[in-house]
Amino acid sequence: MRDDLGSTQPLVPPIYQSSVYTFRDLDHVDHVYEQQETGYIYARDGHPNATRLAEQLAAVEQAEWAMICATGMGAISAALLATLQQGDRILASTRLYGRTSQLLVQELPRFGVQTSWVDVCDLAQVEAALQQPARLLFVETISNPLLRVVDVEALARLAHQHDCLFVVDNTFATPVLLRPHALSADLVVESLTKIIGGHGDITLGMISGAGLKAGTSEFHTQVAQVISMWGLTANPFDCWLGERGLPTLSLRVRQASQNALQLSHWLATQPGVSAVIYPGCAQHPDHDLARRVLPDGYGHMLCFALEGGREAVNRFMRQAPGIPFSPSLGYTRTTCSHPGTTSHRHASPAEKRRQGIHEGLIRLSVGVEDLAEIQKEMARGLRQ
Ligand SMILES: *Cc1c(COP(=O)(O)O)cnc(C)c1O
Repeated sequence: MRDDLGSTQPLVPPIYQSSVYTFRDLDHVDHVYEQQETGYIYARDGHPNATRLAEQLAAVEQAEWAMICATGMGAISAALLATLQQGDRILASTRLYGRTSQLLVQELPRFGVQTSWVDVCDLAQVEAALQQPARLLFVETISNPLLRVVDVEALARLAHQHDCLFVVDNTFATPVLLRPHALSADLVVESLTKIIGGHGDITLGMISGAGLKAGTSEFHTQVAQVISMWGLTANPFDCWLGERGLPTLSLRVRQASQNALQLSHWLATQPGVSAVIYPGCAQHPDHDLARRVLPDGYGHMLCFALEGGREAVNRFMRQAPGIPFSPSLGYTRTTCSHPGTTSHRHASPAEKRRQGIHEGLIRLSVGVEDLAEIQKEMARGLRQ
């Protein structure tokens, strides 16, 4: 049976919720397998909703190609599995998403891959670490939770001088604020679960490639194989929801960044707040770099510290239910989290101290509400 829409097409694309596709005869099967005719075969290898989302993201990212995975971690796994060999060394930022660090520390050594850690805000340290061969350099453009900003262009130059692939997790910045491929990153990975999806209702990831090595169709094919064989594929419904979010991505990111900047100024004047951490603030260690590399906004993530430590955080949470505590980010509304008991729960006390993560530190994922609405609820939370 064929769909009969007459001469019209739906404005909004359909969800192709099918695990497999059908064929007229064996010649048709041959043609699709041999790519003489386009078409889909089995949804783990690809489906129209993933293709549509990937093509739109590839354009936004200024990439040669993009692929969608079931989660952000799936996209990171695809990047690693497509590039690493036994015996390889990774050079990684000391400020990575918790699960990414765990993947490098707990999983990859089983496959004979070792990781060295560098402070990627210190270019001399990165250059020294690159004196030993490394297959890839892995960084985040804006780090969690203290929002350190990296110089993507300078790091790309260093990596390429040492024949090292440069992989950038751009989840916090999004392609609205920063496009790493335009600054010579080879691979970009993003969790679409966060502000790119933006509505708190999906888990998805994206990997994209550009440049002489990662931009080729051979490299794209290698990543596609990894995604199918290791089963990292995204499902049609999540891809459909991901596509639904894209037309508002720029609006949402800009509005949330504006709100975050205003909140950072406002919070600094509130009683009980001992510090505000935001790349848009003059006191932030990377403010000058951020002004240069993030001209369209400093992002939707912001941290602030309460003088009273854990009890003050509890009071804030109880008094401000309108800012739900939820250990993720990038929802339409403002939410909060506490790195010490969530993302960095298992970090040692020394590691927490090194990163500046203490009991009074609250992380905000600022939403797109009217600023006054956020301030009203924040003021409730901050009442002594
Ligand atoms: C959430 C996140 C990931 C992982 O994405 P999932 O979709 O949760 O798998 C990776 N990197 C960063 C920076 C993240 O915030």
